[in-house]
Amino acid sequence: MKQSPDRFRRQIAFSPVGVDGQRMLENATVAVLGLGALGSTIAERLVRCGVGKLRLVDRDWVELDNLPRQALYTLHDAEYHATKANAAAAHLSAIDPVTKLEPIVADITHRNIRSLLEGVDIVLDGTDNFEVRYLINDACVAMGIPWVHGGILGASGQAMLIEPEHTACFRCLLSDPPSTESMGTCDSVGVLGPAVGVIASWQALRAVRWLVERKDDVAAKRESMLTVFDLWMGDVRNIRLHKSANCPCCSEKQFPFLEGKHSTDAQVMCGKNAVQIQVPIDGRLNLGELAERLRREGEVVETPFLVRFTQEDKTMTVFADGRAVVHGTENPAEARKIYQRWIGG
Ligand SMILES: [Zn+2]
Repeated sequence: MKQSPDRFRRQIAFSPVGVDGQRMLENATVAVLGLGALGSTIAERLVRCGVGKLRLVDRDWVELDNLPRQALYTLHDAEYHATKANAAAAHLSAIDPVTKLEPIVADITHRNIRSLLEGVDIVLDGTDNFEVRYLINDACVAMGIPWVHGGILGASGQAMLIEPEHTACFRCLLSDPPSTESMGTCDSVGVLGPAVGVIASWQALRAVRWLVERKDDVAAKRESMLTVFDLWMGDVRNIRLHKSANCPCCSEKQFPFLEGKHSTDAQVMCGKNAVQIQVPIDGRLNLGELAERLRREGEVVETPFLVRFTQEDKTMTVFADGRAVVHGTENPAEARKIYQRWIGG
């Protein structure tokens, strides 16, 4: 199918894009990793801009409580438990059938990330946990692929374009993953839909500009800049960063996340209808703080050695070393999702 020349008329009229820039977009291949609130909105913006090929990666299915902020999906998707990758591809091809879409239903791990990023010009972060972001950073720095980080909690968030060899990387910003109990996660803190739209569009805009300016090396401004959003208060700030001379990733070229040294290890506990999750953490979990946070969300039993948390038909037992057993499932992906939802990671 051929693209109508009229479609991008007004975008081409915007001189930083122009005819050449539009061609750069049409020739681009972009990976969107995670198709939740940020990722689904990013994917839609990129398709509407005329990006030629999108690889759409997500492990989850659409649920009713996604709809307030995951703008691409419908009630029908939630009722039919459609996978996000396939539901996104269906809606996006209805917007522009010329775009080449490659939906992939997968958990992003150190085992598959290289093949997920093969042949991609730029990567968009639509994920919601730190474990995967450090993995994306390792993979992108190792493979020399730029990526646009974005994150949101409540109505606050951050975004940053990372260009390996030119800008600071994610580990220059934050050398190690934050301790899990210090992080609220999206499910316990909440997320506001319109704020998602701002940060996702910001990420999509950084990617579009990068793709368009590939045609002109001089025009490409290579700044290490973290943008921080407090959207409830209407505050947006740019923070200039520096490439760290002793960054383990971009300076010393160590890629422990890509080598699987920090990966979540999920083991099905045979006959117990349970999965054990082992996440290496820095130090030990503060069980008291964790119990306090979870008490607002369900039933909590706290002992000096563990916190047991029950919500509906799932029970999760968490130990101070970060290990947890999720009862009520034998599906590692589901157990991992429950762990990340309530503990973070
Ligand atoms: Zn770095």
